Amino acid sequence: MQKYVNQLIEDIQNAHRVEEEQAADLGEHLDEGEEVEDIREHFEEVERYLNSDSETEPSFADHCGLDKAAFPPADRLSDKQKMEICTAFEKMMQSYNAYPSMPDILPPTMAYDTFVGVLDVRLFLPKLGMVGIEFCDYEPEHCQFGEYCTCKDLEDEINDE
Ligand SMILES: [Zn+2]
Repeated sequence: MQKYVNQLIEDIQNAHRVEEEQAADLGEHLDEGEEVEDIREHFEEVERYLNSDSETEPSFADHCGLDKAAFPPADRLSDKQKMEICTAFEKMMQSYNAYPSMPDILPPTMAYDTFVGVLDVRLFLPKLGMVGIEFCDYEPEHCQFGEYCTCKDLEDEINDE
């Protein structure tokens, strides 16, 4: 299985978004005209983001080209393997400016299943700016993170007042 996991991690690394913009950022400063163009593009993206409909957007799997079927069921993997895959997956998501909102401490299986579940999430990914992916509805009884979620603490705090 480790051989398969190594290959999967390599595939995840190859699924990083390669952006001309990122290359430009690393290079010399843009001249003013390009900056204006950048800002315009940014506002267009914000508008597009606000109008985006999660039903019709491509899934994260479409964006990154990874197939959910390539991810083994959690019970076939060791905790270490799950965490390795999670770390690679999170880095890959960041290359798309996508940041998952997850509790800091999660059991490996829960973290793994959450990351793999991201592949089904339909979303608009802007070139500029970040997108947070929420899994928690702030309803502790139904929260997929159960006792690990900090949304429970929030409710306790409100009840204490
Ligand atoms: Zn929650």
